[in-house]
Amino acid sequence: MSSLAVLHASQLVTLSGPKRPRVGTELSVLEIIHNGGMLIRDGQIERIGSSDEIEKNVGDAESVDAGGRVVMPGFVDAHTHLVFAGNRLDDFERRAGGKTYQQIAKAGGGIWSTVEKTRAASEPDLLTQAKEHANWLLSCGTTTVEAKSGYGLTVEDELKILRVMRQLKEEVRLEIVPTFLGAHAVPRELAPDEYLDIVVTEMLPRVTAEKLAEFCDVFCERGYFDIDQSRKILSAAKEVGLKLRGHVDQLTNSGGAKLMAEMGATTADHLEQTDEQGIEALRKANVQPVLVPGSVYALGSSRYPRAREMIEAGLAVVLATDFNPGSSPTPSMPMVLSLACTQMKMSPAEAITASTLNAAYSLCRGSKVGSLEPGKFANFAIFDCEDYRELAYWFGMPQTHSVYIRGECVTAD
Ligand SMILES: [Zn+2]
Repeated sequence: MSSLAVLHASQLVTLSGPKRPRVGTELSVLEIIHNGGMLIRDGQIERIGSSDEIEKNVGDAESVDAGGRVVMPGFVDAHTHLVFAGNRLDDFERRAGGKTYQQIAKAGGGIWSTVEKTRAASEPDLLTQAKEHANWLLSCGTTTVEAKSGYGLTVEDELKILRVMRQLKEEVRLEIVPTFLGAHAVPRELAPDEYLDIVVTEMLPRVTAEKLAEFCDVFCERGYFDIDQSRKILSAAKEVGLKLRGHVDQLTNSGGAKLMAEMGATTADHLEQTDEQGIEALRKANVQPVLVPGSVYALGSSRYPRAREMIEAGLAVVLATDFNPGSSPTPSMPMVLSLACTQMKMSPAEAITASTLNAAYSLCRGSKVGSLEPGKFANFAIFDCEDYRELAYWFGMPQTHSVYIRGECVTAD
């Protein structure tokens, strides 16, 4: 039995409480233990309490002195596009020069350029790049991520990406929850309905036969997949036992939130354009909104989703990075906390809950991660600050001291 005692946390941010996602004013309740400690056995939390109390029970456990720093659950990033080849530096520069999305796509940029690079990359190459991305996420204090396919857009290339994720799980400590996003865009070589048919009749059966994904996602947007096409894909995915997520109402309010409610999806993601009817539909159907302010910021837009209204309506809001090479090239959850507080008027405490416990529930991992409570995995981060609010306040500055997954340190300070 390997045991570890964490002592002297200025704040042990536990988020302990009822075994369900937090809504309304509950989002502000972090259940902090000042000068806190934690006892860990075989990768699981056995006990939390004051540092003095834990010290009395250390026994033969190895001690880690948090030295008056913040200790909190590792971030759970519930929306990333982790596996892709290359970058989009040229697009970034063109956008800085005032070019529009259409002009950038015409000049050979946009999602298509990432699809071409990802198709051309071998599995080992993709794995090497994905490992680097995984290490970036860990270094920001993230211990669990959802990861989507979607840069292959052929049967073999989508499967290749999902297999890289499975391999990645073996080779890095980051916990990975795979999502099939074959319906990320229509490939240039096919008409939309032809491609939709391939997603439903060829990709989904292979993905489920090889058990490569837990969720199915779709980009429901003008020029990508409309409401009817999205419904077809999500229905087929549900039939083969996948749970549902969706990129909806990002650029236009097309009724995507309502579709996710109708489909009984686990999450509806983006929601920049969602109105009060959409919010009400999500509430009635108990769908968790996943807000990704990093993509609004990186695209130079100012239309952030209506987080306050969603919290007031009683939705179990989640925050995520949307880490991807085009619209949100950040693995940093602290940066997302900053954007949530400054641009969406969430409080630092609400942002922490949305990026840990609520995010864990949105990945069906709420009973295992997302809070520091006895029985859960000891997935936590120590940050170089005394007060959790500093994570959202000092932006653009790394504050990670060390990160632990199942009781083992995965980063060195
Ligand atoms: Zn996305």
